[in-house]
Amino acid sequence: MAGANLPAMRSHNTALVLDLLRTAGEGGISRLELAERTGLTPQAVSKITARLREEGLAAEAGRRASTGGKPATVLRLVPDAGHAVGIQLDRDELRAVLVELDGTVVAARHAEVDLGAGAEAVLGAVVELAGELVERGGDTLLGVGVGAPGPLDHTHGVLHRVTGFPEYDGFPLRDALAERLGVPVVVDKDSNAAALGLAVGGEGGSFACLLLGTGLGAGLVIGDTVHRGARTGAGEFGHQVVQLDGPPCHCGDRGCIEALCLAAVARGDVAEAARVLGVGASNLAGLLDIDLVLLGGRTIAAAPEPFVRGVAAVLDERARREGGLGTTIPVRVAPGGDRGVAEGAAQLLLAPLFGRADG
Ligand SMILES: [Zn+2]
Repeated sequence: MAGANLPAMRSHNTALVLDLLRTAGEGGISRLELAERTGLTPQAVSKITARLREEGLAAEAGRRASTGGKPATVLRLVPDAGHAVGIQLDRDELRAVLVELDGTVVAARHAEVDLGAGAEAVLGAVVELAGELVERGGDTLLGVGVGAPGPLDHTHGVLHRVTGFPEYDGFPLRDALAERLGVPVVVDKDSNAAALGLAVGGEGGSFACLLLGTGLGAGLVIGDTVHRGARTGAGEFGHQVVQLDGPPCHCGDRGCIEALCLAAVARGDVAEAARVLGVGASNLAGLLDIDLVLLGGRTIAAAPEPFVRGVAAVLDERARREGGLGTTIPVRVAPGGDRGVAEGAAQLLLAPLFGRADG
């Protein structure tokens, strides 16, 4: 199997050091600062950084005056020492990116796809789009991450009944792709991939990333960690029933928030779509007491302002009703634009290196 020669298993302490090198950026960080920030002894830090330099993951970034008088050597991450490919597999399109260790996108591809054309055709399209990026990653490639519509089993990389495409129930997407591409593959829900990308990119605390595109999903980050749940099925946000005996949904139920929201989008009623999305966001806020709501996906990208305003209005209402300490939860557009899911999918491979993996 091709792929990275970076040791797959690293110690927790090495991951801490690597994450500090990553977040320090090009300016770098001294060994003394690394020791202070990790709580490790300077000797332990020296041992770890020596090994990272041998492996080509860290390099000297010059010298900097230190309080002790003697200038301290500053170290930085070597971003192109490792790569990952991130793919968004949507119902009607594919996006792929090649990403360096620090999250920088060095190549991006886009193609149309029809999920209804069947697994064989879809696999072929993914391999065609990602194959070149996999090759470009070469020896430094850690693998390929895929963000796909849920529900699915993240642990085994198996799709469940994708809304609108029940024929994919049980399809082993991870293993089928790993066999074709010859590199490790990790599969997660598109909304979880986007949420992971945001968490690694610096969004802290607890937040929900709501994705509105061909479907409606939510990625939940609770205490800096993506919350997937015991069967990795958490965040099936779109199929909460908000209208008993409401219009039928592709999932087989009625009155799902996804059905109501997509119907409003289809008839051009952005204000109503935003209000429905806001009701879902408000339910989440009440259940999980999150700090922030981020909106992503291409329907949001097409009209960000009315969606932010509409969702915020429903959350404001809730805060007013609650009174007391109930402060309004901020709503923002998720950074990353239409590549948010693909970039986050690449983090399925990169994040564990920096100790940012999760359940
Ligand atoms: Zn539904």
